[in-house]
Amino acid sequence: MYEKERQELIDCALSMEAHGLIVQSGGNVSRRMPCGNILMTPSAMAYGSMDPEDLVLMDPDGKIIEGTRRPSSDHQALLYIFKHMPRVNVILHTHQPYAVALSLVADELPACTTTLIDELQGAVPVAPFTRSSDEGMGISVVTHCNGSLAVILKHHGVMAYGKDPEQALSAAIYLEEGCKGYLAALATGRPVARLSAEQVAAESQERGYYGQP
Ligand SMILES: [Zn+2]
Repeated sequence: MYEKERQELIDCALSMEAHGLIVQSGGNVSRRMPCGNILMTPSAMAYGSMDPEDLVLMDPDGKIIEGTRRPSSDHQALLYIFKHMPRVNVILHTHQPYAVALSLVADELPACTTTLIDELQGAVPVAPFTRSSDEGMGISVVTHCNGSLAVILKHHGVMAYGKDPEQALSAAIYLEEGCKGYLAALATGRPVARLSAEQVAAESQERGYYGQP
């Protein structure tokens, strides 16, 4: 079941790897299917050699419906996020280095560039440390999410999400670019310029001209 969607999630993980957001078998990818069940990458398997049938299909409470692999060790946190964020259909968990670096020196990545407003939908919060691989990480994401498409997990990584794989992947990639730029600005030691709420609101407005018709 869901052959196409399984391959899309593997492709998503490979793209995360290609963009330097994960290494080895780190991170995970999961997706809520229209029926409500959750498709998830397995625990500790390299994405380059992963087959579609290695992904695990479970119900919203974590009962395995299809698959012989163990799901990601973060499955309890991921199921909690899906349960409490009904508009989220895809979650990417990464250990992207610039976002982790930022989490050690700041409480948020401010919406200080047009790309962050366009691709992340605003400032990205840093959630305090929680132990990995348990539900607490999911509770922390739900508690600290602020309408942007990601939460940075202090000392750990990122949960980026969206309505589909493209939106979630875009959020994770542009978040890393944004963290890189913000850290570079901080490293100068000079004050970092902010955008006003009005400027952020103006940039957020739909302008109807981007991409191809
Ligand atoms: Zn992790």
